[in-house]
Amino acid sequence: MVGRRIEAVEVFEAKSFPLEPGAIVTWVEGARLTAARRRAKLLILDLDDDYSLLGHLKMTGQMVVRGAEDWGGGHPTDSLLAHLPDRSTRVAFHLDDGSRLFFNDQRKFGWITALPTADVEQLPFIAKLGPEPLDPAGFADFRRRIERHGRTSIKAAILNQEIVAGVGNIYADESLWATRLHPARPVAEGSARKLRELFTAAADVMNLSIELGGSTDRNYIDAEGRKGSYLTFARVFRRDGLPCPRCGQIIRKCRVAGRGTHYCPVCQRR
Ligand SMILES: [Zn+2]
Repeated sequence: MVGRRIEAVEVFEAKSFPLEPGAIVTWVEGARLTAARRRAKLLILDLDDDYSLLGHLKMTGQMVVRGAEDWGGGHPTDSLLAHLPDRSTRVAFHLDDGSRLFFNDQRKFGWITALPTADVEQLPFIAKLGPEPLDPAGFADFRRRIERHGRTSIKAAILNQEIVAGVGNIYADESLWATRLHPARPVAEGSARKLRELFTAAADVMNLSIELGGSTDRNYIDAEGRKGSYLTFARVFRRDGLPCPRCGQIIRKCRVAGRGTHYCPVCQRR
């Protein structure tokens, strides 16, 4: 979509795009998309008028394009393939090539907003974010941040966006399995070498997930129109009752940090 101009914005649910109609007209409509990027779990679309669209999919959000090609990504619901707008559509952006970008969100926890590009990094919750796993130079910062949480379980720590950005429940379980760390172990019990391995493992799992089409399910279609398959990269997540791919022991499910947690009781001893 980069290079396209936004001709009009159609808001179906004000809560999902909480901007004054006047602001939408002056900041968003008529502007051209110059870049698409990500920080933690936020999608950022920069505009040529020095404003940016900022979006969070939260629990059920998805971004879907309908035009010469149909594609999209985000949480798996049939809206990825449906005729749009549908009941889950909250915002539609009409682009100058006749295509439309839909923000769908069944449960309405997700949001999109617009603000000056220069202010994006200053937003308190963005300024507080930890380093990105995909940036290898971020390890020292990660270590400094996580070591302040010695008594926290390692899983809760890596889900904390202020320690490391962008790791959700699936990536947490997968990277702890890869590093042979029990999810409930306190951070202080992990050596510096283990923390390094964990930071690298988070990046590896993200890269593998991207390569294999993401963590959404059968409905998933990526930016190139390829169908992804459900969690093909996962070694432990939602595999409880199945053998560990490394040692053959049966994978267990428990609750850590308030989240369903999958681990191998042999590879990841307490
Ligand atoms: Zn195992």
